[in-house]
Amino acid sequence: MNNFLLSIIIPVFNEEQNIEPLIKRLIPILKDSPYEIIFVDDGSKDKTTSIVKKHSEKNKNIKLISFYRNFGHQMALTAGYEVARGECVITIDADLQDPPEIIPQMIEKWQKGAKIVYARRNERQGENFFKKFTATAFYELINLLSDTPIPQEVGDFRLLDRQVVNFLKNLRERPSFLRGIVAWGGFPTEFVYFKRDKRFSGQTHYGFFKMLNFALEGITSFSVKPLRIATYFGFMSGIFGFLGIIYELIRKAISPESFVIGWAGLFTAIMFIGGIQLITIGIIGEYIGKIYQEVQKRPRYIIKEKRNL
Ligand code: UDP
Ligand code: MG
Repeated sequence: MNNFLLSIIIPVFNEEQNIEPLIKRLIPILKDSPYEIIFVDDGSKDKTTSIVKKHSEKNKNIKLISFYRNFGHQMALTAGYEVARGECVITIDADLQDPPEIIPQMIEKWQKGAKIVYARRNERQGENFFKKFTATAFYELINLLSDTPIPQEVGDFRLLDRQVVNFLKNLRERPSFLRGIVAWGGFPTEFVYFKRDKRFSGQTHYGFFKMLNFALEGITSFSVKPLRIATYFGFMSGIFGFLGIIYELIRKAISPESFVIGWAGLFTAIMFIGGIQLITIGIIGEYIGKIYQEVQKRPRYIIKEKRNL
C-alpha cells in the first residue's frame, strides 16, 4: 500500500455513457493508494451530473464539481487542480481514449523523481488522417514560434507533482493552454507511451474550428514572435516599395516616353499588401484581446455545486 494521496481529475462534458465504464476500469488500478477521483462537470446537459452524484454517494472518494455552463476543457482542468489535494495529480479524459491502465507506470516514474509524467501517444486509433496531420502541423508550428518547447503527441493526460500543481494554482493568468504553461516551468519530465484508443461513446467536442481556435490560443499564449513576423512583413514591403520608386525614377530618366503598363501587377501588389495588413491587424488584435481578457479579471469559472469536497 502506498502512503501518498493520488488525485485523478476528469473533465466531463456530456459523457453520460462513459462514466460507468471509466470508473469500473479506474478503481481496480487505484487500489494501491489512497485516492480521490474528481469529476469536473463542465456544464453537461445530459445525465452526466446525476450519474456522478450517484457514484459519489456510494463512494466518498468520488467527488464532483459542477459548473453552471460550459467553460471549456481547460477551465475544467483548472478547477480540478484548484481542489485536488493529492501529492500527485493525474488528469485524464472521460471518454476512455486515455487508458487508465498506464497510471501505475506514470506513478513509478514520478516516484523516481519526475515532476511531470506525460502520457505520449505512439499510435492513434479512430482519428482520421486530417486530425493527425493538423495535430502534427500545429506542434511543429508552435515549437517553431515559441521559446517554450512543447512536447509532441502529448495531450492533457499527464501526472503532475504537487509542486507543479502549486505553481499552476499560483499563476494569475487565464490558463487557456495548460500543456504549454506546464512545459514552461522546465520541471524534470518523463514520458509513458500508449496507444490512443477510439472514443468509447459519443463524439469529440473538438471540431475543426475549435481546434483552430485552440491552436491560435496556444501560439499567442506562448510567443510574441507573430508580432515580430508582422514587423518584418512591414519592413519587407517597405523595402520593395522603395526599390520600386528607384526603379521607376531610373526608367523615367532613361526612357521618359515609356508609358504605364502593368495593371495586373498593380492589382496583385495592392491585394498582397492589403492581405498582409489585414493579417497583421488580426495578429495584433489577438494579443489585444488577450490583454483585454486579463485586465477584466473576471472569475475563470463559476461553481454551481460540489460533492464530497
Ligand atoms: N471536455 C470538457 N469541456 C469541453 C469539451 C470537452 O470538459 O468543453 C472534456 C470531455 O468530456 C473529455 C475531454 O474534455 O473528457 C476531452 O474532450 P474530447 O474527447 O471531446 O476531445 P478529443 O479527445 O477529441 O481531443
Ligand atoms: Mg477524446
